[in-house]
Amino acid sequence: MTTPYPNPTLHLENNALMLENVDLNAVARVHGTPLYVYSKAALQSAWDAWQVPADRPIHICYAVKANSNLAILSFFAKQGAFFDTVSMGEISRALAAGAPAHRIVFSGVGKSVAEIEFALTEGIHCFNVESITELDRIHAVATRLGKQAPISLRINPDVDAKTHPYISTGLKENKFGIDHTEALAAYMHAATLSGLSIVGIDYHIGSQLTSLTPYLDAQNRLFGLIKQLSDAGITLTHIDLGGGLGVRYRDEVPPTASSLVEQALAGLREAGFNHALMFEPGRSLVANAGVMLTEVEYIKPTQHKNFAIVDAGMNDLIRPALYQAWMQVVNTVERDTATTTYDIVGPVCESTDWFAKDRDLAVEAGDVLAILSAGAYCMTMASNYNSRQRPAELLVDGDTVHVIRTRDVLASLWENEHIPV
Ligand SMILES: *Cc1c(COP(=O)(O)O)cnc(C)c1O
Repeated sequence: MTTPYPNPTLHLENNALMLENVDLNAVARVHGTPLYVYSKAALQSAWDAWQVPADRPIHICYAVKANSNLAILSFFAKQGAFFDTVSMGEISRALAAGAPAHRIVFSGVGKSVAEIEFALTEGIHCFNVESITELDRIHAVATRLGKQAPISLRINPDVDAKTHPYISTGLKENKFGIDHTEALAAYMHAATLSGLSIVGIDYHIGSQLTSLTPYLDAQNRLFGLIKQLSDAGITLTHIDLGGGLGVRYRDEVPPTASSLVEQALAGLREAGFNHALMFEPGRSLVANAGVMLTEVEYIKPTQHKNFAIVDAGMNDLIRPALYQAWMQVVNTVERDTATTTYDIVGPVCESTDWFAKDRDLAVEAGDVLAILSAGAYCMTMASNYNSRQRPAELLVDGDTVHVIRTRDVLASLWENEHIPV
């Protein structure tokens, strides 16, 4: 079904905005706002887009930080996903959702001793290691526990920023990964550490990439290194090309997941490599499965602007405040009255508390607006700032609505706090 919306399962039916077969205005009246609603069919189609027949294993590691609700993780676990995690909390969530430990990958620049110990004890698939000092730390912990840690080195490919200005984590000046020029030495060092077993190589060059070129340039940079490693007697089982595939928020036209997988495979075949392939998509699996619903509390005309003040704040959805992200906003009930230009803002005491600027909408106080493409990096970044209760989350499946998270209750806001006597 094609729609004017980036969310593939969103459509209008008799002036009502529907996610699959669920009327969003009606569901907001039942469950309250602000409210996240995700579509299972959209998750399925995003997952299916990564599935390409291949002559080798291809592991799709869902990046848990994009949306870590247990129901979402459980959905991907049932599809056979691997999981890319960046903390003990994320590893624990993936396990709680039913992911086997051997399908969990542990990334991140600052892994603590406690986190490494936890991951080793659980028996994860591998550590994506970001520095030489981290190699030494993992070796020490593994040796103490009488284990061998499977490791992959995250290489910073330093892809030319001039040709690919969007890349934010794959440049020399970024904190991520091991510099391409130091990679061989780092592997040679890892090979001397008995607590480690070298299984792979990885990179992750940035997020919301809308071209395949940086992926393929970076992959090409790895090939020379992999040859040098095999000459030195170090063989790898997998190559992990990271996450970062972009999605449509407005008018972006990102490449399809299957074209990325196919072209990466073609590159490997051409180079004569038979390694297993891994990817770490977050955003592209969940962003357009979700919307956030928020009710208009007040229409506030001023001399300069018209404001629609809604009941969600930057604490509930921070992407516009944090990244000046553009997100589409639509009324869940299509009105046939004339539109007015609004800034859509929240109730939090910060000037950055806005969702959209200069949008033409036909809207009245009491209407429920949908902020689209809100499945990734929205609920996971929600906070209790201003002592606001974080939203509830629903998962719709056809015409069935599952509550997958209830709204914070007031007492939970201070449940970990203590007044000294
Ligand atoms: C954030 C992150 C991802 C996921 O990135 P997306 O842009 O959401 O696909 C994958 N791998 C690593 C190491 C990350 O930090």
